[in-house]
Amino acid sequence: MKKHNFSAGPCILPQEVLKQAADAVVNFNNLDLSLIEISHRSKDFVAVMENARSLVKELLNLPEGYSVLFLQGGASLEFLMTPYNLLKEGGKAAYIDTGAWAAKALKEAKLLGDVEVIGSSKDKTYNYIPKNYTVPSNVDYVHVTSNNTIYGTQFKEFPKTDDALLVCDMSSDIFSRELDFTKFDLVYAGAQKNMGPAGTTLVVVKDEILGKTSRNIPAMLDYQVHLSKDSMFNTPPVFAVYVSMLTLQWLKDLGGVKAIEKLNKEKAALLYAEIDRNPLFKGFAEVEDRSLMNVTFNLTDESTGEVFDKIWNEAGISGIKGHRSVGGYRASIYNAMPIESIQVLVNAMQQFEKEIK
Ligand code: PMP
Repeated sequence: MKKHNFSAGPCILPQEVLKQAADAVVNFNNLDLSLIEISHRSKDFVAVMENARSLVKELLNLPEGYSVLFLQGGASLEFLMTPYNLLKEGGKAAYIDTGAWAAKALKEAKLLGDVEVIGSSKDKTYNYIPKNYTVPSNVDYVHVTSNNTIYGTQFKEFPKTDDALLVCDMSSDIFSRELDFTKFDLVYAGAQKNMGPAGTTLVVVKDEILGKTSRNIPAMLDYQVHLSKDSMFNTPPVFAVYVSMLTLQWLKDLGGVKAIEKLNKEKAALLYAEIDRNPLFKGFAEVEDRSLMNVTFNLTDESTGEVFDKIWNEAGISGIKGHRSVGGYRASIYNAMPIESIQVLVNAMQQFEKEIK
């Protein structure tokens, strides 16, 4: 019996994807060769890359004029690639500081130019999404983090940016809900939540925004270089791209983003309802900003922690300890998490209530 895996990332992937991936590592496409020992220029792997790209376009409903890249360096390298490619010499960028990842992103941008933080929820340990911010008229782009993995908050409405570009780090909620991607100019996401194993970063970019900064961009940091080589400027992370392709195909077979969004809402509602009902727990994030992906909560009485920890451990639950900077608990309930596992957690919370009384 597998564990109920609530890890924040790397995290749960669909069982059938893991099995297919394991098979391909031994014998890929009946070639009598492993996926990870063939050339990335072979027709079998080029087909994987093309299929992965077209699945992203289809699942996100991307219009003409948007391109898809599979890069390396994690979302963390995108923190730097974004300003390199979009922040004009002498220009300015606006950031909304909704947590540790957003703060790291804006720190990198400061290396290349002027950064204005137009909203921050740092005053309350990032337990909410700032709302009353104004987008300045003179910025090249606005950067937001759609889902704040550590704190369990999520943007429900994105800034209206008029002339400025809208850039979004969607590492922990891409493919989890329907969004109008025409509103975004650049989106990036490390694979290791809803897309696949760690090792590749998905980038979705509106072609027309590139090549306008007059900067000298190092080749590996230049989106146009990667676009011109179809994500094969250098050797791509073949395993991560392949498993991402399998996961995207799994999502498509399940009915796509619309279908998974419905399931994600049901899953989150089940867990939040128990947090709100059970007097031994309190939710961490403001109710209106609660994430559908990372559910953060604390004990009302910290001294009861040992009892609860024993109960969920015995129930086969793994990975619900909160991030070291926040404490408490965090149940990450990404796309591949079945509702049955969430029910196991809810049962453990109810058993805890009975034992404490
Ligand atoms: N942004 C967000 C929202 C994240 O959750 C993470 C990692 N958990 C990162 C960025 C950093 O991603 P990576 O480790 O792929 O660089």
